[in-house]
Amino acid sequence: MLNFSHQEHIKTYYSDTRNIHFKLPSLLNKDSADVCIIGAGFFGLSTALELAEQGKKVIVLEGARIGFGASGRSGGQAINGFEDSIDEYIDQIGFENTKKLWDMSLEAIDIIDERIKKYNIECDWKKGYATLALNSRRMDDLIALEKTTRETFGYTNMQLWDKAKLEQHLGSKIYQGALFDSNSGHLHPLNYCLGLAKACLDLGVKIYEQSPVVDLIEKSSSLEIQTDNSSVIAKDVVIATNAYVINLPQKITKGIKRKILPVDSFIIATEPLEQKLADSLINNGMSVCDSNYLLDYYRLSADNRLLFGSDSSSNKNMKEIMRKNMLKVFPQLENIKIDYGWGGPIDMTINANPHFGRISKHIYFAQGYSGHGVALTGLAGRIIAEAILGNDERLAIFEKLKVPSIFGGKLVKKIALFIGTNYYHFLDKYR
Ligand SMILES: Cc1cc2nc3c(=O)[nH]c(=O)nc-3n(C[C@H](O)[C@H](O)[C@H](O)COP(=O)(O)OP(=O)(O)OC[C@H]3O[C@@H](n4cnc5c(N)ncnc54)[C@H](O)[C@@H]3O)c2cc1C
Repeated sequence: MLNFSHQEHIKTYYSDTRNIHFKLPSLLNKDSADVCIIGAGFFGLSTALELAEQGKKVIVLEGARIGFGASGRSGGQAINGFEDSIDEYIDQIGFENTKKLWDMSLEAIDIIDERIKKYNIECDWKKGYATLALNSRRMDDLIALEKTTRETFGYTNMQLWDKAKLEQHLGSKIYQGALFDSNSGHLHPLNYCLGLAKACLDLGVKIYEQSPVVDLIEKSSSLEIQTDNSSVIAKDVVIATNAYVINLPQKITKGIKRKILPVDSFIIATEPLEQKLADSLINNGMSVCDSNYLLDYYRLSADNRLLFGSDSSSNKNMKEIMRKNMLKVFPQLENIKIDYGWGGPIDMTINANPHFGRISKHIYFAQGYSGHGVALTGLAGRIIAEAILGNDERLAIFEKLKVPSIFGGKLVKKIALFIGTNYYHFLDKYR
């Protein structure tokens, strides 16, 4: 369990280059609102923003600092679609609903575009993203994905690149080809998160930092959300703690913490690279992921550092392991210094379906974005806000998705994570 007492942001490239520096007070006196949101990451803040835009009185309680969790330390890649294959979704919820899900995943990217413009959020937002194939089977998967999205959904922003075309833009020889999407993109996640918080504050949302929620009491016509020092009375509550849901008492979360299997992910940032060297790695501003289950993802930052991430089992020598991963892709960086290294939990579900819903009539949640959280959290915020405001049509589609539970205590989760990580290694090698 995370000890929240006075947690600050961990040291990352992002925390050292943040462009908003507020520190907000803790909740010391009783307060009330229409809606209380637990957690100030992308999802909690997106929900708050959507509700405040509609005139609702909103309080956000953050256990540490705004963007302390995955949102402030992620790879920053905003990717459309979902982690599972389109056929799986069609099998589960039918064609019409799958088409709606696909369209909503595109809306998720539009939401980022809109908010950055509307609230002048400076966060180095850049379009262009490629999924890379490490072998011919993966290339076949990408060919099939391009065909399905174009023929079935009419999506024409994707281009298939063979090895030669990819190497015009990427200075690595290890890939067979790529699927380039001109609509997905990447941003500085902590600055985007802080920008959302500023927009919320400007609209009258109250955000209390270093105020971990410890209990929730259901009263006859309201909910009382308790922190160590005080409490908030609200009609509706949104649980926006995602992979940190483990920190909330079972009494509040009911079964939802059984749905998340956090997978560790790590990122290193090189020293700033000379322009010529940076261009020789990526010359069109795109971000990239390979298409493994446990994947590498990377991009250049605004000041030309390579930000290189990998999903991996935790190890005390993580910075060195990550450097070796980076050199497998770009051996030309052998003599480049690594300035930063950090990690955090990715919110995976067992079958990679996102998990949005309600615990009871007035307690909502969204979690388990399974590698697509930078984009989908904004959409989740909009959909949960719609439901609170009386229209739950779109939330109901997400509620149809099956998300298996992981039973057992922490030990079982550790074993499941170990087996899961090795299972994904196996699939990556032999699939
Ligand atoms: C290293 C890393 C790289 C990633 N890269 C990408 C990527 O490139 N693209 C992508 O799409 N996704 C990526 N992800 C996943 C993505 O960042 C998440 O899906 C997304 O940020 C989740 O946002 P959130 O608001 O739901 O959760 P979070 O940002 O984790 O926010 C939860 C908040 O709740 C707070 N909290 C927890 N318990 C309590 C409590 N009891 N009381 C009050 N507050 C509490 C936490 O302090 C935290 O601030 C990455 C994640 C990691 C860790």
